Amino acid sequence: MAKETIRDLTDAQLRGRRALVRVDFNVPMDDHGAVTDDTRMRAALPTLDALLARGTRVAVLLSHLGRPKGKPDARFSLAPVARHLATITARAVRFMPCTVGAAAVQATTAAAAGTILLMENTRFLPGEETNDDALAREMAKLGDLYVNDAFGSAHRAHASTEGVAHHLHPAVAGLLMEKELRFLGDALAQPQRPFVAILGGAKISGKIDVIDALLPKVDRLLVGGAMACTFFRAMGLETGTSLVEPDRVDMAKALLARAGAKLALPEDAVVAPSLDATSAAHPVARDGITAGDAMFDIGPRSRDLFDHEIAGAKTVVWNGPMGVFEKPPFDRGTRAVAEAMARATSAGATTIVGGGDSAAAVDAMHLADRMTHVSTGGGASLEFLEGKVLPGVAALDDRST
Ligand code: ADP
Ligand code: MG
Repeated sequence: MAKETIRDLTDAQLRGRRALVRVDFNVPMDDHGAVTDDTRMRAALPTLDALLARGTRVAVLLSHLGRPKGKPDARFSLAPVARHLATITARAVRFMPCTVGAAAVQATTAAAAGTILLMENTRFLPGEETNDDALAREMAKLGDLYVNDAFGSAHRAHASTEGVAHHLHPAVAGLLMEKELRFLGDALAQPQRPFVAILGGAKISGKIDVIDALLPKVDRLLVGGAMACTFFRAMGLETGTSLVEPDRVDMAKALLARAGAKLALPEDAVVAPSLDATSAAHPVARDGITAGDAMFDIGPRSRDLFDHEIAGAKTVVWNGPMGVFEKPPFDRGTRAVAEAMARATSAGATTIVGGGDSAAAVDAMHLADRMTHVSTGGGASLEFLEGKVLPGVAALDDRST
């Protein structure tokens, strides 16, 4: 069911109102409280601008930061985030050192028109993560309408992401949320074919549901990363000291049998005795991994194979690096996939990257703007790919058409 978005609201529903906006300002900071990556903050600006430009009186922002465990902890205060926000928007930014309560409500009504008011960390309150209904009602008093633009938190049913939407209407998606749902949703619901998915990363255990959900939908599933090693073990190959999940080998066997030709594993690997022995890194065929070596990346033949598959695709969804991309030369497989996807985008394919580390890799390679969409939600995008209902989305108002 499609959800209402801020674009469905009339000016009359916005003018003079207080919009309570759940954003995802869970950003990394250095020891001095300086924001080191503000991608998520910038991604929320279009929603705030759209609301305020259409006459919303004040945008009241709720966000979590880190894991303060339900009590105030100065290390996780959003105050430095508010200061950073003021440097990336021309609008007036104010910070409230509390989240809910009489003083907080008072601040939302007293703030000058056009103000962005950031409340203190929602996770300072014990009821946030337990989705306490009384807290959700308190949060609802902070606005006249609710906007959820925190896609990265939508897989969590918390008071500020789910509970509050039951007590404040309209409850609609922001522009970032809408974009995420559109790109991820359309890719899965009605993909242009061939549809190729690429999965990698460290562990097969966290992604088994994604493989299950994607297999019936895709034309081809390419597997890289350490995940491939568990499949290799299932095929009876020597995997040396590679990261293998022994308790998932049987599962991998069953998947191999079920997937048939749809599943493509790397044909070769870049191996080394250890991660630090980079000068000893060399490619071997997948049946040539020796007992003393570990696979840290897909090999050159696999790069070519994956490149070829991506070049022929009309829809590409990628989650999980092909190797230990943080440590050259083991970044080459990941780079090859990112570059192949960038070329595919230019050739007219829809290309989508989901997953925190994959998004970081694409960013580091300066290829983010050459993808159709890079999801801002790590865990949320994975759960979406698994076909799960995201509680923060489900709680929003359904579109009536
Ligand atoms: P994402 O965040 O994109 O979903 P994951 O968190 O599943 O991705 O996996 C990313 C991690 O997987 C990276 O830190 C990378 O170093 C690691 N990784 C990838 N390939 C290997 C490998 N062959 N051996 C060990 N670690 C690997
Ligand atoms: Mg990760």
